[in-house]
Amino acid sequence: MAASLEPFLRVIDDLLAYAGAIGWHVIGLGFSIPGTLDATGRRLRVIPILPSLNDLLLCDLLEAQFNLPVRLCVDVDAALLGEYSFGAGQGYPRLLYLTLNAVVGASFAHLGKVEQSSQAGLGHVAHLPIATSGPRCSCGRRGCINSLISLEAIQRLAQRCYQRAEENGSVSSLTRHGALNAHILAEEAMQGDPVALRIYEEIGRWLGAAVARYIGIYSPDALILGGSVLAANEVLFASIQSTLTMHVATITDRPVKIALARLSTDAALIGASVELFQLHREPSQKARASLVSPQQ
Ligand SMILES: [Zn+2]
Repeated sequence: MAASLEPFLRVIDDLLAYAGAIGWHVIGLGFSIPGTLDATGRRLRVIPILPSLNDLLLCDLLEAQFNLPVRLCVDVDAALLGEYSFGAGQGYPRLLYLTLNAVVGASFAHLGKVEQSSQAGLGHVAHLPIATSGPRCSCGRRGCINSLISLEAIQRLAQRCYQRAEENGSVSSLTRHGALNAHILAEEAMQGDPVALRIYEEIGRWLGAAVARYIGIYSPDALILGGSVLAANEVLFASIQSTLTMHVATITDRPVKIALARLSTDAALIGASVELFQLHREPSQKARASLVSPQQ
């Protein structure tokens, strides 16, 4: 465990030293976590990329080490809070955030409070079944959004499309690149590669079906789309946006704003610190209120 954490602790030390050198007052440390937290939000539960940290009481450890308040936030929740506070989600009380990278993430917040209800399925929203006859997902069920449009699912879809293209005597430029990533996919789609366009069409279709379910459950005022696949290119986003707008219109009369995330990868870093800013502001606001109230 200590070995896995060591590089991160060194980076924090360096950052604190830098902040001190330029005269910044550090009010706390916010962490965006690529995994799950326990109900208290202070203990890591499962961190797939660093399993040696599973079940670690990270908040206690960091607070003791750095003598500062620490907040942990699941990455997709942190990104949503970042967009709600400073990005594309500003001004929308009920905010749904969907991100598409290596896996699909989703989060919902009402007035900046992330919905934690296991009943509603949030926290597991990537495993909300969309197509019961779809491919089997890592969670054991079939047709979760994660099994349909994560980057891994897109690789499988690409393989099927290559085969079909070969059978039809055509060739896709995507095959030149080997493993796909979001930027290659977006670039080739912009060049008109039929397989890349077919993949985006498929993403739009499944995203539409998923969004229809999410909107039915959460009635968001706005849906923010982020992540490397969706945010790679504005033209492609515009085509997904119009597909989703059509889906939304068939489900609800309420307007639902569909927008591209604005803060990119910074969203999670900013969002993980939002609560610390609020904590820091509140005591001074209370103090000001108590100064003002005797005169009122
Ligand atoms: Zn699943």
